Amino acid sequence: MESIEDEGQRAKPLQRHKGNASDYGYPSPDIAALSQKALEVTRRLTEYYGELPFSSKDPMSMLVDIILSHRTRDEQTAAAYDNLLKHFGSWEAVRDAPTNEVEKTIENVNWPEAKAPRLQTITVEESAAWLNRFEGVGPKTTACVLLFSCQQPVLPVDVHVHRVSGRLGLIGKKVSADNAHALLQALLPQDSRTIYNFHKGLLRHGQRICVYDRPRCSKCILTDLCDYYNTVVKPNSSHAKR
Ligand code: SF4
Repeated sequence: MESIEDEGQRAKPLQRHKGNASDYGYPSPDIAALSQKALEVTRRLTEYYGELPFSSKDPMSMLVDIILSHRTRDEQTAAAYDNLLKHFGSWEAVRDAPTNEVEKTIENVNWPEAKAPRLQTITVEESAAWLNRFEGVGPKTTACVLLFSCQQPVLPVDVHVHRVSGRLGLIGKKVSADNAHALLQALLPQDSRTIYNFHKGLLRHGQRICVYDRPRCSKCILTDLCDYYNTVVKPNSSHAKR
């Protein structure tokens, strides 16, 4: 995941660009077809990787978990989360503790010195609407909490969802992660289960098959739907065979 600082600073308005307009929006004007494609991708990936349950964490606990998880492996995040609860007993106690003590408790994650004070700015309230008020809680983190814990139909776009969507051709090649949120969300039904399956499917696919460096297209179940495969990988491989 990207840094919390990056995310907090990334919320920018849509900008005008020179060049091919479709690179910055949908790659095709046929939104119904793109929508169908998004649903077919969701269906296949959910069948392939299995459906995940929604989180049982309350929104506050989910927010703590997500802040800890930025640029940190899942096992380290889980260990730091457990350490906090074991050491302090409650999020209120974390908030009121000396910051260096919180930092020490989460020292196994990346940037404990930034994450400890950030965790302490969070207070326990009932509504999810408070999320955007917190420094360093950007749109992606807000969407994660709302979808994972509150089961609201809001799509988080992380680096994997962004990269895989771009390669598949659900969004243009130059759409930023921030702008991808609205474009992808509009292709999906306002149904939290479908949005969750889409998010988790693309996330797991991006971690395992459609990886950053060299996508493992020979192992991919989406080649027939993928613009990158059909315009870059396939022409080159048939050329190489000649
Ligand atoms: S075919 Fe290749 S580029 Fe396309 S989604 Fe699959 S792994 Fe990614």
